[in-house]
Amino acid sequence: MNTSAEIWDSPVAYLMARQPDHPVHFFDPAALQTQAARFRDGFAGMVTFAVKANPALSVIRNLLQAGVRGFDVASPNEIRLVQSLAPHAALHYNNPVRSKSEIRFALSAGVRSFSVDSFGGLAKLRALCNPEGVEVSVRFKLPVTGAVYDFGAKFGAVPDKAVGLLQQAQRAGFTPSLTFHPGTQCEDAQAWASYIRAAADIARRANVAPARLNVGGGFPAPQAGAAPDLAAFFRVIDGALAGAFPDTPPALVCEPGRAMVAQAFAHAVRVKDIGDDGQIYLNDGIYGGLSEFPNLSVARHYQALSPEGAPRTGPCRPTTLFGPTCDSIDVLPEKLPLPDSLREDDYILFRNMGAYVHGVTTDFNGYGDLETVTVLSL
Ligand SMILES: *Cc1c(COP(=O)(O)O)cnc(C)c1O
Repeated sequence: MNTSAEIWDSPVAYLMARQPDHPVHFFDPAALQTQAARFRDGFAGMVTFAVKANPALSVIRNLLQAGVRGFDVASPNEIRLVQSLAPHAALHYNNPVRSKSEIRFALSAGVRSFSVDSFGGLAKLRALCNPEGVEVSVRFKLPVTGAVYDFGAKFGAVPDKAVGLLQQAQRAGFTPSLTFHPGTQCEDAQAWASYIRAAADIARRANVAPARLNVGGGFPAPQAGAAPDLAAFFRVIDGALAGAFPDTPPALVCEPGRAMVAQAFAHAVRVKDIGDDGQIYLNDGIYGGLSEFPNLSVARHYQALSPEGAPRTGPCRPTTLFGPTCDSIDVLPEKLPLPDSLREDDYILFRNMGAYVHGVTTDFNGYGDLETVTVLSL
């Protein structure tokens, strides 16, 4: 990815002036800082950022400027990335599956917080490190719905097992904590309440007072409708914590990815060609900036623009959108309503695209030249 040094007024100003033929990621640093402030001011605990959602250096830098001091990292390279900008940031290695060499690297880099969801994972950690001052967060899962896909399919111990893990973590001399992730883009705030009550139950059954409770990422970003009210999620979390842990509540941590960064970027793609049946071929697709669309709905705010920057209007029809590669699965699973007036060389500007584009874009078939342009506003 290359980032241009110039700062532009808006995506439209840039598209008009440059007429780029490659996809463009537009970054509004002020929007990122505003969202970071919402978490900082509204969440009653430590706010960290899940680096995988957007590992751009400019994102990490802006979050540091906005006061974010902790990061959820999942690999040695994410550790290196954060430490290249913030050598003293708190790093939470909350990918519960780690090789021995990854654990050794993390310890040598100063990481002192790890999640586990298996007895084997806990034993591996214990064999490689002195537990003093090292936090082990037991990742547990519930069959809770509300997210777009189920993170529990890969990660998390069921509550019975979490009880045993929490006891073993404490017995081994680690600082015991609990963590969960309700699944990405979870629009149901009550999912957090269920998890927090389950955390209290696990702690009671284990007879262990967890030092911290990490309530995950999973907070929703705006899709097609109004922006979710983060404050309402925080109220549910505060209420559930007070109810479930009336005596010694654990300190709260959150680790949003998507909800922190999505609103800070828009993503422009271009119409390369229009087929005889009205199907559209874009310069980006599921191997690039639109990789989430098959899993998450394509429904989000977007606008069709002429090369002169004028919005395309008129009656819309459901349109098939193909990506640029020679792979027949490079097509969006849902049709997108687009105006009849759409023409070759037009742009489609998608909003709320800051999560899971940078880092996920591949160069398959010679595509994937993603340029990032900084703008004053989206
Ligand atoms: C991906 C991930 C996150 C961020 O999830 P979002 O849904 O993007 O907020 C947080 N924590 C862990 C452990 C993750 O793997």
